[in-house]
Amino acid sequence: MIIPVRCFSCGAVIAHKWEEFNELKAAGVEVAEALDKVGMKRYCCRRMYVGHLDLIYEAAPFSTSIQ
Ligand SMILES: [Zn+2]
Repeated sequence: MIIPVRCFSCGAVIAHKWEEFNELKAAGVEVAEALDKVGMKRYCCRRMYVGHLDLIYEAAPFSTSIQ
C-alpha cells in the first residue's frame, strides 16, 4: 500500500522522506546512498524503505467507495 507513517520498530516518522527517496532513486542514485542522503540512519527505518512495495494503485480499483 502506501509507505507507513512511522517505523514499525522504533516509531520514528519516516513517511515524509518517501518522495525525496523515490526522486533520488529515479535519478539513478543507489538505494543505500539515497537512504543516506534523506537521513535514514537506523537499519530498522532503512528496511522499511527497502522492503516496501507501492501497491496502492494495484489495490485501488478493488476498494469500495461510498457514493
Ligand atoms: Zn526505525
